[in-house]
Amino acid sequence: MSKAEQQHKARLALMGCMACLRIHGPHDPGPVELHHLRAGRGWGKGDYTTLIPLCHEHHRGNTGVHGLGSKGFPRHYGFTEADLLAMTKQLMETCA
Ligand SMILES: [Zn+2]
Ligand SMILES: [Zn+2]
Repeated sequence: MSKAEQQHKARLALMGCMACLRIHGPHDPGPVELHHLRAGRGWGKGDYTTLIPLCHEHHRGNTGVHGLGSKGFPRHYGFTEADLLAMTKQLMETCA
């Protein structure tokens, strides 16, 4: 793992769950898991720039990206994984 990747992941972990942020607004971030956005083609193995921080529920829970699936998730929430990735990237830039 490169140093840039390590730093990127450490910062993602501090940002908290993007789905919770979108739904509840800013709040104390809990522990997160890193979800790899699989939509779209061409991301190589180890491409850490498409990781999204999510809490356990929004990641692997019944109302999470894996529980609902990539079609069910936007139907349930009204935003997509790609929207969450865009938020992640924006936050990365604003707190750089
Ligand atoms: Zn969450
Ligand atoms: Zn995942």
